[in-house]
Amino acid sequence: MKPIKIAIDGYSSCGKSTLAKALAQSLGYLYVDSGAMYRAFTLFFLENGIDYTQPAAAQKAVAAVKIDFHLDPLAGNRTLLNGRDVEDRIREMDVSQHVSPVATLPLVRRALVQQQQELGRNRGIAMDGRDIGTVVFPQAEMKIFLVAEREERIRRRQEQLHQWGEVVSVENIRRNLFERDYIDSTRSDSPLMQAKDAVRLDNTNLSEDEQLAICLTLAELRIAAANA
Ligand code: C5P
Repeated sequence: MKPIKIAIDGYSSCGKSTLAKALAQSLGYLYVDSGAMYRAFTLFFLENGIDYTQPAAAQKAVAAVKIDFHLDPLAGNRTLLNGRDVEDRIREMDVSQHVSPVATLPLVRRALVQQQQELGRNRGIAMDGRDIGTVVFPQAEMKIFLVAEREERIRRRQEQLHQWGEVVSVENIRRNLFERDYIDSTRSDSPLMQAKDAVRLDNTNLSEDEQLAICLTLAELRIAAANA
């Protein structure tokens, strides 16, 4: 059975990673959180005091960054920055505040898109991000554009940060989400947008199980079509 590529895009805190992870697990595919790669890059800039708005400095850094993923049997997917586990660190607020400006840099995007395409070569994959259906895998057999109402997204983000032990005010969360949405959808290189052939799914009132069931049905149809 030929596997397919599943691209999940959408605004911040719509539940893209939860859905992509569950789909990958159900189908036995690789799961890749492309946002984690932009976050790891951002952490590298922050930790090394690099002014990423300076092209020469950013260029030098790109060559020094290696991002990998490791599947831990207990802790799940872990992002590695030059061999170091940064999975928890990249979710903190300082990284969230800088990641969207970093993600506007074409040289960072070029390096990461190439790596993402490599990860998906000749295999079944579910990847979530902002440009997966439009730029990374424009030929993906299944594309979902996930949306949810703003207040629900803020509530989910707050719950997630709470689970990670970070105390951030609702106002800070709101500001960060909207700033990222704005930068991500208005940047000139690979802006966040719905691919023409993507299915738009509003999950505001869906449970995780309900959205997974809908998407698994779609995946089965797309896998059957790819193997017809
Ligand atoms: O998915 P997550 O919210 O962790 O992504 C963090 C940031 O990384 C996004 O706000 C966006 O600026 C950037 N990103 C991107 N392209 C992707 C994935 C993430 O520009 N494919």
